[in-house]
Amino acid sequence: MNVLRYCCEALLDAQAQGDTTDVPLYSLIVASDLLEQEAVAHSQPWIGWAANQVSELHNPLAHAESAAIATAAAYLQNERLGGYSLISCLEPCLMCSGAIMHARLDRVYFFCTADKGPGLRYLCNTTRSTPMRLNHYPAIFWLSEYNTRCRAQLQQFFEKKR
Ligand SMILES: [Zn+2]
Repeated sequence: MNVLRYCCEALLDAQAQGDTTDVPLYSLIVASDLLEQEAVAHSQPWIGWAANQVSELHNPLAHAESAAIATAAAYLQNERLGGYSLISCLEPCLMCSGAIMHARLDRVYFFCTADKGPGLRYLCNTTRSTPMRLNHYPAIFWLSEYNTRCRAQLQQFFEKKR
């Protein structure tokens, strides 16, 4: 199993086991060059990991993506995360996309597209005809092979809540 797949499986496992009041969404930050490797050398190859904790913390800023970025930047003692990638269950929202720009992340991978509002692809012009000038563009990868599993796990969460 390569490092990218290993990281994706870890996020989906966390989502499957998520037992909180918050929607089970997780993100991690990993060195981009590690993602090219075929063998997983460490059980936790990421430097930042976070869960969505908006309800638990009563904090609208506590999205998994922004929290993972904050954790990784604190770990590196550097607010710039060039050379690193974010992997997330959901396409980052506009707030987290802003954090991705400011952190200068190389790449963003996600499983499910944002359907409730504009997200990273909108900000980075991939779904709009009117270009917006930004100081940084990450490479964006929709890992559609994980879409069905991620959505099913989210649906299970919402069905349990009803
Ligand atoms: Zn967000």
